[in-house]
Amino acid sequence: MYEFQYHKASSINEVKEKISSLNDPKIMAGGMTLIPTMKQRLAAPSDIIDLSNINELKGISKEKGFIIIGAMTTHFEVHTSELVKKEIPSLAFLAGLIGDPMVRHRGTIGGSVANSDPSADYPSSVISLGAKIITDKREIESDEFFIDLFETALDDDEIILSLKFPIPNKSAYMKFPQPASRYALVGVFISDTKEGIRVGITGAGPCAFRSKEIEKALSKNFTESAIENVNIPSENLNSDIHASAEYRAHLVKVMAKRAIKKLS
Ligand SMILES: Cc1cc2nc3c(=O)[nH]c(=O)nc-3n(C[C@H](O)[C@H](O)[C@H](O)COP(=O)(O)OP(=O)(O)OC[C@H]3O[C@@H](n4cnc5c(N)ncnc54)[C@H](O)[C@@H]3O)c2cc1C
Repeated sequence: MYEFQYHKASSINEVKEKISSLNDPKIMAGGMTLIPTMKQRLAAPSDIIDLSNINELKGISKEKGFIIIGAMTTHFEVHTSELVKKEIPSLAFLAGLIGDPMVRHRGTIGGSVANSDPSADYPSSVISLGAKIITDKREIESDEFFIDLFETALDDDEIILSLKFPIPNKSAYMKFPQPASRYALVGVFISDTKEGIRVGITGAGPCAFRSKEIEKALSKNFTESAIENVNIPSENLNSDIHASAEYRAHLVKVMAKRAIKKLS
């Protein structure tokens, strides 16, 4: 790890001031991805700005048909929240599948979404539920947020404040976990929303994406058999030591069927 300066901010304004005055700063949530990346010398920020003292970034509330989750809310807090369990149980379920207890107590929803790891769980729910990403500058629609591998629509100096999830009629998440890390080899999140059926896929491609093919089939007939003949193209999917692109394409349908079964 290269040398860096550590700062603990106590307000968003303080974070913004530091970002604009320091040489090459990076904000830190729970450090679950950032610290290992720095240890491997894949990142070498001049300064780390720790968000963990900023209370306005924490907590879960309900407002006019939305569940709003602060960026610094941990996976454990989402998993155990009575409000999330009642209004969007699939989201609480998803949070409980992430990593191990340490990761769930340190890792945050804002850090996970900002990171856009191709195998992270939350991005599939953000896309499927049609969540809005609220930053210090604007509101970003989920369909425009995930751009590529570890790349989002966020500017370098932009801070996620919260995520705003519309409460769906019903939704379900199923994932095939990588046995060592528990990251999703493939995860499929299906929601019946006010806009219709939305399907978010993670683990399969460079970043989370919507499956318009599955959405179309399920909009006509919400059964497992409706997606039997849907073709999931494997050309642009990930292929690595854990799974080939073709296997991931196969898993998309298997996980989608399990999610449909859960909802039926
Ligand atoms: C062993 C292990 C297993 C894991 N398993 C899973 C799994 O099964 N499923 C899964 O989904 N994830 C998994 N993770 C990832 C984990 O869930 C964390 O969410 C993820 O690592 C982000 O961590 P963090 O919240 O601590 O963010 P950090 O590591 O602190 O930050 C990550 C990145 O996001 C940026 N960032 C953080 N907060 C904000 C913000 N508010 N606004 C803008 N940018 C921000 C940082 O600058 C940094 O670039 C695993 C991690 C580990 C170490």
